[in-house]
Amino acid sequence: MRFVEREDWGAPATSPASYLPSARGVKIHYLGTAYTSRAHSLCDDYVRSIRASHLANVRENYVDIAYTALVCEHGVVFEGRGTHKRPGANGNADLNSADYAVCALLGSSGLVAPPDAMLAGLRDAIDWLRRDGDAGDWLGGHRDGYATECPGDQLYAWVRKGAPRPADGGQEEAEGGVYRVKPGDYLAVIARRLDVDWRDLARVNGLREPYTIYPGQELRIPEPAGREVPPFPGEGAFVLGRSHPAVVTLDEGLIRGGWTRHHDGNGYQKGPRFTEYTRRNVADAQRSDAVLREDPDGYPGPLTWKFILS
Ligand SMILES: [Zn+2]
Ligand SMILES: [Zn+2]
Repeated sequence: MRFVEREDWGAPATSPASYLPSARGVKIHYLGTAYTSRAHSLCDDYVRSIRASHLANVRENYVDIAYTALVCEHGVVFEGRGTHKRPGANGNADLNSADYAVCALLGSSGLVAPPDAMLAGLRDAIDWLRRDGDAGDWLGGHRDGYATECPGDQLYAWVRKGAPRPADGGQEEAEGGVYRVKPGDYLAVIARRLDVDWRDLARVNGLREPYTIYPGQELRIPEPAGREVPPFPGEGAFVLGRSHPAVVTLDEGLIRGGWTRHHDGNGYQKGPRFTEYTRRNVADAQRSDAVLREDPDGYPGPLTWKFILS
């Protein structure tokens, strides 16, 4: 199991939640919001943003992130409240005392089909809670005994089958340098999931516009892009109609990510001027992220900067 302890993603080492001696079992959740496939380097930011939004939720009065654990599309398990702590996500006090709550970073739009790596990570989390958290064999979804769509039909179908570990162990995306295209995949999403530059992915596979791929096709995985995100230059770098060297860097990220539909008629080109086209393309990027879409104003702040350049 690839496991990130609370301290390692920026939460206090021990959750202040109440003690839970044992549990009937484990309930699986999803985000139930728009969520976009992203590079793993952004997953801990996302987990932190969930904790912040839970702590800010006055109505629920959460003392901590509500989940026992969270699992990203790359199969990494982030410790939430952890073992022997009562979760806060199952709907009411009785339900929270009954079962642990494990949340998949899976959306109700965008990334809606759980990748094999995610299923393997969820299976890891279930096994961990049974082993170290005194969880019983019961397994279900948030919707069991509570009126909600959570964890979505696709993930729930897998839970109902007993949460089987994927046959390939969920590692196929990284092994052998080959990725097998799944229904609904498109190039930019695969590239973000594999943490590679989508143009490299197109190039090593001989793909040209319109970059058609089909389910079952095997794509060679290029070397990871290994990009370092340059420091945020400050909001003063992005003033409509003004030039700043950081705009060139921003444009490179927009072009890499495919956020280029607004342009003057000759395609979107990089350059030092922050134009209305730049602003609208940045807004598109913001709208593709569940956190940033709250305020898609098209002006990069530190989080937008990191999202576009990762
Ligand atoms: Zn839920
Ligand atoms: Zn991840």
